[in-house]
Amino acid sequence: MKMTRNDDFSVTEYPGGVLVIDSGFGREHMTACYMVEAETEVAFVEVGANSSTPRLMATLAQRGRAPEDVKYVIVTHVHLDHAGGAGSLMRELPNATFLVHPRGARHMAEPAKLEAGVRAVYGDQVYDELYGKLIPIAEERTQIMQEGDEVSLGSRTFSFIDTPGHAKHHFCVHDSQTNGWFTGDTFGLSYREFDTQNGAFILPTTTPVQFDPVALKESVGRLVANEPDWMYLTHYGRVGEVQRLAKKMIEGVDVFAGIGEQFKNDDSRTWKIESAIRDWLLVALRGHGVTLAEDRCIELLQNDITLNAQGIECWLDYQTR
Ligand SMILES: [Zn+2]
Repeated sequence: MKMTRNDDFSVTEYPGGVLVIDSGFGREHMTACYMVEAETEVAFVEVGANSSTPRLMATLAQRGRAPEDVKYVIVTHVHLDHAGGAGSLMRELPNATFLVHPRGARHMAEPAKLEAGVRAVYGDQVYDELYGKLIPIAEERTQIMQEGDEVSLGSRTFSFIDTPGHAKHHFCVHDSQTNGWFTGDTFGLSYREFDTQNGAFILPTTTPVQFDPVALKESVGRLVANEPDWMYLTHYGRVGEVQRLAKKMIEGVDVFAGIGEQFKNDDSRTWKIESAIRDWLLVALRGHGVTLAEDRCIELLQNDITLNAQGIECWLDYQTR
């Protein structure tokens, strides 16, 4: 594994023609984009936000590839840390086809509604800082990928399966060459800062508004059923030991759903859910052998703790509707 600095962001090359490019979204080493090279053809899987596009184009050039070489731009789902930059990236890549989940395609062709929804949650100022204007992707450049569909990139095959649970518009992509899955957010979050002698630490992401614990656990089970060697997580990078991590993921989903159940009728459930998640994570990190200061652990996870708590509340609301 080779680490190179490209201007001031990191690109890591894994064996088998897979590069992870730090999109810079959120903080450094939080949100990955992948560039896959297969003979003369290239694909991007996950594209970050609009602000990530220059990093992807710079990496393409640094690898001696032309914009015309990019055959596919793939997003696992249409949350904007994964897909926000897809329109601006597609404008730079004349031959690329955009591959998207059936439930995500319309949002990318007509992003006004998606943008309005995110603005309503975060407010205009935060939205403009994080995401910027979403650029529509023409339907004739878009290919909808159904469960079981495949495409080829050079001599490798990408296979797509529907993986609801984090979002209903989420698929995962299997790479035949490395026997790995591009998991988006279905296989949770695993930040490299928490790696110890015990390996990688993993936790589920239950972001609003479509978290569904039963579906998520089923999807995790489907991903590991074919005994993959690697998982390429968007947050962040490649992990092995997939059977151990799948077990941890499923435990984590049960814990988070259980926290929701515990406080569902509590008047101050918002902060109680959030603090229960934080407390559980701190204990789990210590159990994993993480020696970072508590403040640093919270700093790295605060954004996810808040989003997870919000997503669990959405799930509780949905059940009582
Ligand atoms: Zn994400």
